[in-house]
Amino acid sequence: MMLNYDCLTEIRAFGRENKIPILLDDTLEYISNILNDIKPYRILEVGTAIGYSALCFSKYLAEGGRIDTIEIESLRVEQALENIEKVGAMDKIRVLEGDALDILPYLTEEYDVVFIDAAKGKYLEFFNHALRLCKKGGYIIADNVLYKGMVQSDYNKHKQRTAVNKLRAFIDMVLENKDLQSELIDIGDGLTVSKKIN
Ligand code: SAM
Repeated sequence: MMLNYDCLTEIRAFGRENKIPILLDDTLEYISNILNDIKPYRILEVGTAIGYSALCFSKYLAEGGRIDTIEIESLRVEQALENIEKVGAMDKIRVLEGDALDILPYLTEEYDVVFIDAAKGKYLEFFNHALRLCKKGGYIIADNVLYKGMVQSDYNKHKQRTAVNKLRAFIDMVLENKDLQSELIDIGDGLTVSKKIN
């Protein structure tokens, strides 16, 4: 079946207009370069939203490859499925509905890339699952780790302080983990890219 990637322009515009936090262009470009180099067979995504990033990533899958993507909000799942159908990528993307923390423990496959892009307060927990599910030599990528610059700033409003502290602890854990080769990249809303070396 022919894939209609032209629809991505419309899906991206819908996301931006409706303030759905889909991938920023520079972040997408950065991740796309990694995916283009490794041509992954299996990608796991935490946080589907309307399927925009999964659809963008699906261009780089190896022959017969697949993306599993997890989303908690049923409206978003519906929109993602519609978009996946519009593009014709149903056999490349599997949307799993529910809280990732309930679903991740049941996943048993190994993934070449795990992409974390969901509730910031749960990044540490998502990452622990990602460590188990990512194969050796694979990548774990987490988006929004600098949270609009707040993680690197001294002043944070009370409302955001818990999330900011959690993200700081998350970044420290990622950068200190000896089984990973990690980088914190100041692009978009901040990205950690970790290669699992052990
Ligand atoms: N990756 C998407 C993209 O770039 O097109 C954007 C994902 S958006 C930043 C985060 C999504 O994660 C939201 O749609 C939200 O409903 C979902 N989410 C938040 N917490 C979640 C959880 N615990 N399990 C699964 N999905 C979650």
